[in-house]
Amino acid sequence: MTGFVHSVQSLGTVDGPGVRFVAFLAGCPLRCSCCHNPDTWEKMSGTEYTAAALAEKAAHFRDYFGDKGGITLSGGEPLMQAAFAAEVFRLCRERGINTCLDTSGVVLNDDVRRLLSHCDRVLLDIKYTDDTLYRRHVGMPLQNALDFLNELNERKIPTTIRRVVIPTINDTDENYTALRDIAQAHPCVDRIELLPFKKICQVKYDEMNLAFPFAAVPEADPRAVRKREILLNT
Ligand code: SF4
Repeated sequence: MTGFVHSVQSLGTVDGPGVRFVAFLAGCPLRCSCCHNPDTWEKMSGTEYTAAALAEKAAHFRDYFGDKGGITLSGGEPLMQAAFAAEVFRLCRERGINTCLDTSGVVLNDDVRRLLSHCDRVLLDIKYTDDTLYRRHVGMPLQNALDFLNELNERKIPTTIRRVVIPTINDTDENYTALRDIAQAHPCVDRIELLPFKKICQVKYDEMNLAFPFAAVPEADPRAVRKREILLNT
């Protein structure tokens, strides 16, 4: 069983609880207007790993994981390589390594369900709560992410909802209220995490000769975003 990995981060602290080995899987079918990793879109641009080799690489760092840390599979969109991701997580769990999946919930099929059976936590990205915005700026119906969240809820998988706060696009009271309503309707959600929109990715778009759709959108103020996050979680 092999998969394509864009890059790895040995000791990450922002993609799931504690200190984590983060593998960014290559390939994503979406084209989010705010995407800061357009270099992960193409699956074949990644390095080929066996599931055993990736699990082994994560295990090298287990002394740093402590009580909460472990492995996170992010992307790109890891659901596009769900069978591979499931095998990586299965092998990690065999070694007692905590598993966390960072996804947009783009698809739900048998491979994805198998992957979920090996997940200790999911970070579910819900960028917009309005279907029109979602379709325009993500490229799929909002319902896909909500169906995915319902599956997480049925499985009682601890879930963090993540949202990039994008000034002038999704930072309205209405949007935050809708996000909180979604979280409260799904008891598996124990946290909402807000991330400030930044434009450091512009250089990647320039290098790839692509237009950054949100180039003219202002960056978010991290302190205001943090305050809003505290409000949403109390
Ligand atoms: S799902 Fe993630 S990697 Fe894919 S386009 Fe959206 S932000 Fe980029």
